[in-house]
Amino acid sequence: MEASWRFEYPKHVSFGCNQCSRCCGDTEYEVRHILLLKNDVERISKETLLEINNFSEEVTGSKPYIYEMRKTQNGKCFFLKNNLCTIYKIRPLICRFYPFQLRNFGNNNYSFSFTDRCPGIGMKPKLNEEFFESLFHQFMNAMERTQIP
Ligand code: SF4
Repeated sequence: MEASWRFEYPKHVSFGCNQCSRCCGDTEYEVRHILLLKNDVERISKETLLEINNFSEEVTGSKPYIYEMRKTQNGKCFFLKNNLCTIYKIRPLICRFYPFQLRNFGNNNYSFSFTDRCPGIGMKPKLNEEFFESLFHQFMNAMERTQIP
């Protein structure tokens, strides 16, 4: 059956990650909360052989996200080593999305926005509908696999 959802996306934005790792932890401007879905922590735990509470802690009030990544003493993601993500292939959904966010306006209407605190915004390439469609499908797939208690 054809899905009835719709999403809006910014039409003239370009983005290229320069791997500065600003989004991987706190900066001088903000405290970053790397929120995690149940299936994020399960996947990471399975692949890294770490207990879930080794690298994350439970949070309330942010459903469907029910965990938050632990950070090191300098405020960086538990899995960031030498400025590189050590779980890149299995990284959380929220990291796949950054610097974009998806909001649900009800009735299956969604809208993408972005933060210009990411220095990759404005870099090439210009993003097209396929880019946002791919993100949107990743979100939908994650939601299907997530059972919110
Ligand atoms: S802040 Fe932006 S440019 Fe820097 S690592 Fe994150 S996504 Fe890439």
